[in-house]
Amino acid sequence: MTTWDDESRRIARAALPEGLRRETLAVRTALAPSQHGENSEALFLTSAYVQPDAATMARRFADSEDFTYSRTSNPTVRSLEARLAAMEGTQAAIATSSGMSAILLLGMGLLKSGDHVICSRSVFGSTITLFAKEFAKFGVRTTFVSQTDLSEWRAALDTTTRLMFAETPTNPLTDVCDIRALADFAHEAGALLVVDNSLCSPALQRPAEHGADIVVHSGTKYLDGQGRVMAGALAGSSRLMKEVFGPVMRAAGMVLSPFNAWVVLKGMETLDLRMRAQSANALQVAQWLEQQPEVARVYFPALASHPQHALAMRQQSGLGGALLSFDLRAASPEVARTKAFHVIDRTRVLSIATNLGDTKSIITHPATTSHGRLTEDQRRAAGIGQGLVRLAVGLEHPLDVIDDLERGLSTLAP
Ligand SMILES: *Cc1c(COP(=O)(O)O)cnc(C)c1O
Repeated sequence: MTTWDDESRRIARAALPEGLRRETLAVRTALAPSQHGENSEALFLTSAYVQPDAATMARRFADSEDFTYSRTSNPTVRSLEARLAAMEGTQAAIATSSGMSAILLLGMGLLKSGDHVICSRSVFGSTITLFAKEFAKFGVRTTFVSQTDLSEWRAALDTTTRLMFAETPTNPLTDVCDIRALADFAHEAGALLVVDNSLCSPALQRPAEHGADIVVHSGTKYLDGQGRVMAGALAGSSRLMKEVFGPVMRAAGMVLSPFNAWVVLKGMETLDLRMRAQSANALQVAQWLEQQPEVARVYFPALASHPQHALAMRQQSGLGGALLSFDLRAASPEVARTKAFHVIDRTRVLSIATNLGDTKSIITHPATTSHGRLTEDQRRAAGIGQGLVRLAVGLEHPLDVIDDLERGLSTLAP
């Protein structure tokens, strides 16, 4: 947990000039180098820190600002926190061991028995489980509402509503919610708005600029960007990070390993380039898919056919992100599933996996993986048909991705 201001006062060489742009901050924001002057940020693999004397140790343990033990803080992790906060435009950030542990930290820090949460019903599956099952054990109630219909959020509001939680765009159907409208509504109600920004990353979307109070990240996705490590974070005000989440982190220990922090820190230096390139590749693939007779519908925010296209372009720096889905035409769910499996199995380049945010494009069948535990009725309500195929577009040449999809699409049985 750190703020840019704190660090720049303490360490002269980290004092970058004011007004640097996001691309520069992504490369330059970190703690100062060590006495060796390394240009690439150091990886501090240490659990404890030697103290000069007993009195200094006592002071550092009391104020938790200096380094004492890596469950409390670690220089590599702090560099990542500073860099993420700089990119999100928040005062501070706190890194966690995974995206899910970031949401666990959020709940442990802000919710108590009797509190109520309103959450979009289209958020990441494990997020739904965490709110609906795990937090419910501790007396926290969650109402799940439409991603796009604010009247459902209004109807769910009660005097105990403490948090509102959204994710935009959603996975796999890329529904986009209006962060500003949700933030205004949350603040009128005296609640906090939390936005999971894993799919866009701060390269495309900064929820805090639109009024969100807390930004959630699965650093496992685009921040790492090369499918190597698990990581997570919360970003927001210094007060929340220091006074609310810091103490829970020290007690509960869902810390990010310094090694994983270092990998993500270096990944973030290319975040802007990757997000722009992968968004452009995804758009080219989405436009091609829209022309295919076997494809009934393509879900991608940068297509003019997307229901929240204009909002998405305003909110996401004019780019669609790199995740898209498409529905295959089929007369029945059984035929749809056979066709989807055929398209997936004919690929020779794409990875059949359930991650996203990698440089390697990944193809998935949501109905039998991420949404496999739902009943057919629940799946239908969520819009996840058996003919739906999800594609997380990476950095291969987009024509090779298209050729790989065509292998299956051009050989489908009628
Ligand atoms: C993957 C993901 C998560 C969970 O993150 P992990 O790092 O896998 O724990 C949360 N939200 C979104 C939107 C995700 O894509």
